[in-house]
Amino acid sequence: MAKYIFVTGGVVSSLGKGVTAASIGRLLIDRRLRIRMIKMDPYLNVDPGTMNPFQHGEVYVTDDGAETDLDLGHYERFTGQPTSRKSNYTAGRIYWEVLNRERRGDYLGGTIQMIPHITDQIKAAIRAIDEPGVDVVLCEIGGTVGDIEGLTFLEAIRQMGLEHGRDNVMYIHLTYVPYIRAAGEIKTKPSQQSVAKLREIGITPDVLICRSEVAISEDARRKLSLFCNVPLHAVIEERDVEHSIYEIPLVLYEQGLDELILVHFRLARPPSRLTEWRRMVDRVLHPRRRVRIGVIGKYSELQDAYKSIYEALTHGGLAHDAAVDVVKIAAEELEQGDPARLLEPLQGILVPGGFGSRGIEGKIAAIRHARERGVPFLGICLGLQCAVIEFARHVASLDGAHTTEIEPGTPHPVVCLMEEQQGVQALGGTMRLGVWPCRLQPGSLAARLYGVTDISERHRHRYEVNNAYRERLEAAGLRVSGASPDGRLVEMVELADHPFFIATQAHPEFKSQPLAPHPLFAGLVGAALARGG
Ligand code: GLN
Repeated sequence: MAKYIFVTGGVVSSLGKGVTAASIGRLLIDRRLRIRMIKMDPYLNVDPGTMNPFQHGEVYVTDDGAETDLDLGHYERFTGQPTSRKSNYTAGRIYWEVLNRERRGDYLGGTIQMIPHITDQIKAAIRAIDEPGVDVVLCEIGGTVGDIEGLTFLEAIRQMGLEHGRDNVMYIHLTYVPYIRAAGEIKTKPSQQSVAKLREIGITPDVLICRSEVAISEDARRKLSLFCNVPLHAVIEERDVEHSIYEIPLVLYEQGLDELILVHFRLARPPSRLTEWRRMVDRVLHPRRRVRIGVIGKYSELQDAYKSIYEALTHGGLAHDAAVDVVKIAAEELEQGDPARLLEPLQGILVPGGFGSRGIEGKIAAIRHARERGVPFLGICLGLQCAVIEFARHVASLDGAHTTEIEPGTPHPVVCLMEEQQGVQALGGTMRLGVWPCRLQPGSLAARLYGVTDISERHRHRYEVNNAYRERLEAAGLRVSGASPDGRLVEMVELADHPFFIATQAHPEFKSQPLAPHPLFAGLVGAALARGG
């Protein structure tokens, strides 16, 4: 049976608990442990699929088509291991399952209660990720200790400590140690109180990881150790990193966190030096070149809405020893005045996925600019749909071409709903989701980049290129370089007489990793570097 590590968060939200958990995952992978990661989110939505990116950031999609929390993206990028539907539970999903069982009569007339029914369901979900051969399950509890909605989750993991034995369970508490400028010192009280809250429930952390802007003095560490009841050597500092979140595994490694975990679990594994990871971080920190790539999104101000896109661009840069300076442009801004004003300085243009009408004409204007001026372009999901609309309108002379998502009465619905989506009413979990196979045309840019012709990528969309227009678009010069193996679904398009113009109906950003940059992103960065500017 696997060992369990639970990561909780204290004092404030947005501490980077997901990145910290993922970093711990990296340390364990480098110690040759087989791990699984899982995130429990105490909010009531069944999944984040229907949530506004303003509230929740990006929706991350797994191979098996689950719409999940963006922390799963960190898990995959840091550990190189795929996550699945089993890797993310919300309180809503837990309650849903318990209530369905109650309706089915599974509880034989019993009174259904938070303890034990909800807590049992939580424990079952956590344990379900354990499979034969897994050494350690790393479970992150979302939210902040002290939240009412998180209580059942903390109760469940407390019970697991008792049931599995304290040698087999480890509690890591991530806390915030603020620096008070006026007093010129850091304060440990919020952490003391957060740990006191945990101890009230019956959880004593084994490790305290302290997020802080400044160095934590030996004095402060002693104080944290004493008041939080954590051994001094298990008080770990996680100072703000200056350049890249990928430095965090190194920060934790330097303080011996991996060894601490192995000792707690009495596991013996050869020491690691984190060599490959360190080499990658070194390349992130010392790029030989820089390149400016514009991301034309609906929300330019939201860091989290395009998380995986930004990460994948960084990875694409790594493939060329280059740093990518991402220029975030709100598509709406391109709708006023001459778009070239904002687009001219860019060496490459990326139009990401999205929903709804806001900024659509700006995205189309950006794609037109890229097509006409030979600027390297990568379109993703809605970005492909916009590229097809732009090509239809301005090259194939299909005036007023549009997607029926935005313009149901368009004279030329070049992007529309496939039959299987036409009757769908419910919004949750009903899109084309998860991994779909795609066959690339030999000799196409896509095939050259991937280096193979049979690929698969993750999807999350309802609308598709309308096959009724395929011939006319192809006759006008749009190359359908990737399609579903049965040929029914257009998956990739490109332009032959352009240095780099390619778009995909999938979301390749979800599969890109710092140790394995995705070919489409590496291709875009390479082409942008070649363009210079
Ligand atoms: N809104 C478009 C669709 O549903 C694109 C979705 C996306 O970009 N993820 O097809």
